[in-house]
Amino acid sequence: MADGSSQPRILAIHAHPDDVEFQIAGTLALLKEKGCHITIATMTAGDPGSAELSQTEIANIRRKEAKVAADMMGADYMCLEFGDLAIVVDDVSRRRVTEAIRRARPNVVITAPPVDYMADHEVTSRLVRDALFSASVPFYKTHEWDAAKPTEKIPHLYYCDPIEGVDWFGNAVPYDFIVDISKTFDLKLKMLAAHDSQRAWLRRQHGVDEYLNSCTTWSQTRGKLIGKTYGEAFRQHKGHPYPHSNILADLLGPLCHVAKS
Ligand SMILES: [Zn+2]
Repeated sequence: MADGSSQPRILAIHAHPDDVEFQIAGTLALLKEKGCHITIATMTAGDPGSAELSQTEIANIRRKEAKVAADMMGADYMCLEFGDLAIVVDDVSRRRVTEAIRRARPNVVITAPPVDYMADHEVTSRLVRDALFSASVPFYKTHEWDAAKPTEKIPHLYYCDPIEGVDWFGNAVPYDFIVDISKTFDLKLKMLAAHDSQRAWLRRQHGVDEYLNSCTTWSQTRGKLIGKTYGEAFRQHKGHPYPHSNILADLLGPLCHVAKS
């Protein structure tokens, strides 16, 4: 694969610090065990996530928390430095995401779903999908200093769950398969707990450890559908020109439970 190893390079890219932990980390940990190289990327540093600190102060804290979480898995971490509630589809943004993809050089990308409860998630999904195509186009320049070279081919693309698995109207969003993450759930929860500033903030707001509780409950909800303790659900992008083979199912074997159609 891209780095000369025999296993695929995986890029998990979502909007905010903690989104990857909430929706994808259990599966990433399984893929890491299979020898895959993992990169976790967030579009923002989570700058408005505090009532007391300045945007710069909280962004610095949250970037560090995201790195600590990624280190627990042995994953690389990068932040694309967009602002919270300010991720938009435009030329500059598409070039920035393209540069990140060229640097990560993934064979597999897992990102936010096209429909979710907030714009940052939906726009991330759109930018990543567009940029994966742009990344392979030789004449498409990112205008970055020391720009990475174009990618060789379009990676496999997957979407994680939207929050609570529903669309704007409360209808369940379909999934293609659920991964049994029972083996890696403890690590997933520890990674989420590393986002201590968010956890503390939500604990003050709700009076309970809402952060970890909601992740546990959602993972149990997905796991129950396949008769396992914990699960994460995914949908594959199969539009032109993305590969159709299910490389995650091939890598994960019996841990991947494909939905019956
Ligand atoms: Zn988010």
